[in-house]
Amino acid sequence: MDADNKQVFRDSIATIDQEGKRSWIYPKKPKGRFYRYRTWVSVVLLIFLLSAPFIKVDGNQLFLINVIERKFHVFGFPFWPQDFYLLVISMLIGVVFITLFTVIYGRVFCGWICPQTIFLEMVFRKIDYWIEGDRGSQKRLAKQDWNAEKIRKRLVKHILYLLISFVISNVFLAYVIGSDSLLRIVQEPISKNFGGFVSIWIFTGVFYFVFSWFREQVCIIACPYGRLQGVLLDQKSIVVAYDYLRGEGEKGRAKFRKNEDRAEKGKGACIDCDQCVEVCPTGIDIRNGTQLECVNCTACMDACDFMMEKTKQPKGLIRYASEENIAQNKPSKFTLRMKAYTAILSVLVIVLFGLLTVRSAVQANFFRVPGELYQVKENHNISNIYTYKLVNKTNKEADSLYFKLLSHPGGVIQWVGTSHIHLASQAIFEGTVFIEIPTKDLEDSKETIEIGVFSKEGTQITNTKTNFLSPNNNW
Ligand code: SF4
Ligand code: SF4
Repeated sequence: MDADNKQVFRDSIATIDQEGKRSWIYPKKPKGRFYRYRTWVSVVLLIFLLSAPFIKVDGNQLFLINVIERKFHVFGFPFWPQDFYLLVISMLIGVVFITLFTVIYGRVFCGWICPQTIFLEMVFRKIDYWIEGDRGSQKRLAKQDWNAEKIRKRLVKHILYLLISFVISNVFLAYVIGSDSLLRIVQEPISKNFGGFVSIWIFTGVFYFVFSWFREQVCIIACPYGRLQGVLLDQKSIVVAYDYLRGEGEKGRAKFRKNEDRAEKGKGACIDCDQCVEVCPTGIDIRNGTQLECVNCTACMDACDFMMEKTKQPKGLIRYASEENIAQNKPSKFTLRMKAYTAILSVLVIVLFGLLTVRSAVQANFFRVPGELYQVKENHNISNIYTYKLVNKTNKEADSLYFKLLSHPGGVIQWVGTSHIHLASQAIFEGTVFIEIPTKDLEDSKETIEIGVFSKEGTQITNTKTNFLSPNNNW
């Protein structure tokens, strides 16, 4: 191959041919130790992904992203619009986390955890291998004319695709509208939930399109995280990398010859078997270096290790390593930078969980009634009027709640209207109170007061602060 041809991969992506048409990828079925590990990780993640919206913690769905009704649950913690700051902090932490994680560990997420990769490589691609056979058989079937065998295989395959897309669509909706709403749509007649029924089929169509046709192009063209790799990765990032120093040697890669001393002849370790290319689900040749299309799925690592073993050469010609490791011929190490970034990532996760766990289940707010200053009572007490709002973020009801003035024990709280607070699950209770404080307990014309909210058993549920106005401090 001349120098110009070697650079062809830079001008196009593997899934689109010279004429701009879709170039279908038929990756060889991967096998090896990394594929085994990935299979186990995928099984665990698939169970989690499919069951998470149906698991409840304290009556709250484990994960819920209901944008329409503005309800969000993360690990069973419900987020209310009042918790918006927490959501913003979580998102900021998420962005920093993703950036630092990618700078150190490259696209490990894409290869091992991303639901797109897991569903495509571990579910839909397995159906392809099961029904149509490995790469060679799939290519032959695609080329051959339509006959009974081709119709039967394609029909069975696409029915399975559709069924699985239908399941994914239902689970997806359980994340978005809540599993209870989904089960209601499923159980009730279609006429009662026509909108929900249509949504299920629209999303089924979207998933079917993604997994039956669009496939690896999601990672190459559509995924914003994939597109960000170009700016996030550097020479020190750990990626799936080809050891070109060892692979090319002095005289370049060359086909394997039995009983030949390759080192003596200056030949590289790469036997140019193309197994790493044939197994690649994005159709690239990792020997050309890190490329945008590479989702770090490790399939080429397994394929190359197999060939190295067969030719009695050390494994790891394609391995997890940084560009710097390969260029300097040094083994990968857990460097100071990786330790520092990992420490920051751990702190961010701890901060996030800390914020979530210290957040109170009931939120109280007291607001001074606008336009009202204060009243001086006959007994020289000063009175301010407040409206209050209690938000119950849990699924538990709370009855007979009461308030206590924590900052000024001599003060009293007088109810306006009802004095019986019944806080239903995930509900808001609003009311009005007068707060009266003896003048002798006041030091300033504007003081901060603290009010506690107590359960009927006398346990303090939460507290809040507000301002209290009085004439002046010279009584
Ligand atoms: S180059 Fe290797 S790791 Fe990257 S996508 Fe292809 S097979 Fe997976
Ligand atoms: S699998 Fe390994 S030996 Fe075969 S072409 Fe790829 S890098 Fe070379």
